[in-house]
Amino acid sequence: MGTSFTIKVESLPETIDAKRLKNDIRHCLDEIDTRMSTYREDSEISKFNRSKSTDWQPVTRSLYVVLQKAQQISQLTDGAFDITVGPLVNLWGFGPGSNNFQVPGNLQIKQRLNQIGYQSLILVDVPMAIKKLKPDIYIDLSALAKGFAVDQVAELLQAQGISDYMVEVGGEIRLKGKKAEGGLWQIAIEKPATEQRALQKVLAISDIAIATSGDYRNFFDSEGMRFSHTIDPRTGRPVSHQLASVTVLGHTTMEADALATALMVMGPEEGYNLAQQQDISAFFIVKSDNGFVEKSTSAFTDYTR
Ligand code: FAD
Repeated sequence: MGTSFTIKVESLPETIDAKRLKNDIRHCLDEIDTRMSTYREDSEISKFNRSKSTDWQPVTRSLYVVLQKAQQISQLTDGAFDITVGPLVNLWGFGPGSNNFQVPGNLQIKQRLNQIGYQSLILVDVPMAIKKLKPDIYIDLSALAKGFAVDQVAELLQAQGISDYMVEVGGEIRLKGKKAEGGLWQIAIEKPATEQRALQKVLAISDIAIATSGDYRNFFDSEGMRFSHTIDPRTGRPVSHQLASVTVLGHTTMEADALATALMVMGPEEGYNLAQQQDISAFFIVKSDNGFVEKSTSAFTDYTR
């Protein structure tokens, strides 16, 4: 998935062969890559993206589950989160096959905006199938498929009777049980600084998922402005507000991952208000003239107290 992963299991039941478990985990992650990667031409999603058909197309269960969650978050955020934003992600140079970062012209942005819209992707569950209402719909699952991968590995461990673990894929995490010495897991939230890696906050937590989105790793600068990989589907441009990162705690990593991107799109006021209203556990780090300012929702404060 263009990133690294770490899995820590504190106590392995004697009946489990560690080598076999590692193979099962790799197989699970490879399978998700085969379904959901826009970086591979042979993936299920890439085939759907290339197709110009507006007929129903069958879809595998795992892809269906991820698409369904994406559509639910799009509705919740009134389109701030939108997996059909891919053509714009690619136009700005953040997608597969290019690191050709560029500020596109207004006309190009307008053309791509006409191609997108989560309402133009329809799902049906019996039998599981999806359909484009516009032939150019192109789906980008980068905002939530890593989270789904974490949940799948966690389920695999759980099914083996493993109850104390940390699963992390590309910074998205799921925690269960305790560390070997008996304490909670210590998870650091990074300071959203581009020039050095430092900690903003350390959480002692467990039995929870945690995901972060930010503007400080994947971006380019042009004429004194920073352009990040989080695109606002309402403007077709990278977000331009002062929110540097947002961390979300939740029951599943897929949902936390998607919500973190959604709140990152919405920004420090609109995003914070939605998170408060929906009882989302979220931690915002906002740029100010005097450095970074922290902002937590009530649910986050209650959970981490
Ligand atoms: P997040 O905040 O979690 O997601 C940001 C991403 O979401 C953006 O980069 C964009 O793609 C998308 N996005 C932007 N705006 C919106 C919006 N408004 N609504 C919804 N989505 C939006 N990278 C490689 O370099 N090589 C690979 O081979 C590769 N394979 C991958 C395979 C899979 C299955 C997945 C899921 C990702 C893969 N990636 C690959 C991408 C990669 O690792 C990403 O950089 C990553 O998923 C983005 O994660 P993040 O945590 O940085 O940002």
